[in-house]
Amino acid sequence: MTTIIDGNKVKADILNNLKKEIETLNGAPGLAVILVGNNPASKAYIGMKKKACDSLGIKSFEFLLPETSNEDELTQIIQTLNEKQDVNGILLQMPLPTHFNEQKMLELISPEKDVDGFHPVNVGKLLIGLDSFKSCTPFGVAHLLKAYNIETEGKHVVILGRSNIVGKPMAAILIQNQMGANATVTICHSRTKNLKEITQQADILIAAIGKPLFVTSDMVRSDAIVIDVGINRVDDDNAERGYRLVGDVDFEKVKSKTSAITPVPGGVGPLTIAMLMTNTVKAFKLQENQ
Ligand code: NAP
Repeated sequence: MTTIIDGNKVKADILNNLKKEIETLNGAPGLAVILVGNNPASKAYIGMKKKACDSLGIKSFEFLLPETSNEDELTQIIQTLNEKQDVNGILLQMPLPTHFNEQKMLELISPEKDVDGFHPVNVGKLLIGLDSFKSCTPFGVAHLLKAYNIETEGKHVVILGRSNIVGKPMAAILIQNQMGANATVTICHSRTKNLKEITQQADILIAAIGKPLFVTSDMVRSDAIVIDVGINRVDDDNAERGYRLVGDVDFEKVKSKTSAITPVPGGVGPLTIAMLMTNTVKAFKLQENQ
């Protein structure tokens, strides 16, 4: 029997525990979210983040800058937030309009407030096994594996995708010499040769490439665990909005071959916000010595 991994349930458990923890804190954590421009998906994401903050008792601050704003204006906001005591975490919603240098802007965020885990200081700490803010989506995947008692030690994990926000930090988490890690990791990308031969060797296959239904059943070993990070819109005339969301894995055809698999939506997606909230509480505790 295949286990369908329920990200919404794991998210609810994390948020319940966090809520209880926040009630015991002396003061409330604060998260500032900065959005530049009018990207509808980004607006939806920050709406979800605010809702999660409200439900937990985390103060949320929103900064909405017009598409026409420039790097100097954004720099000033980030620098002000770095200094503000009631802001423990700063999230710069990506993507920024193309006239911004995203990396340069991310590096302005104080590493102590970098709850997205994108600052090079946190990325470097993660890689060498020091305590750090971990990028929320791979951190969420690690949490899902743990919640379902999926052993990673000694397992061959194949990751499809080498982005800085998913593939690379996912590998950095799973190669550590610690509980919930100790995996043998292979990272594949668009130049990888003989991809199918590699994915067929995976005990755990993590897909994060942004290509709808890319992973087919012939790419997956029997009884493998498949984690689908992809979120892709595909046209669907029968859907109310004219599209539906699918992952990078052809879920319907692949699932019967697996021992456990995440659906899209409802798998990895819900964990990203849960881990953002987790990182915000961690930032508060570190900054307030609690
Ligand atoms: P990205 O920055 O576009 O990176 C995609 C990666 O996939 C790149 O490393 C690319 O290789 C690789 N790739 C592309 N085509 C490939 C192919 N045919 N074979 C092997 N590798 C291939 O994407 P991302 O930001 O990591 O996101 C990946 C997916 O996860 C997207 O669907 C995104 O929407 C989703 N996502 C979900 C969440 C969540 O909350 N669940 C969060 C973040 C992202 P190269 O490096 O060679 O170009």
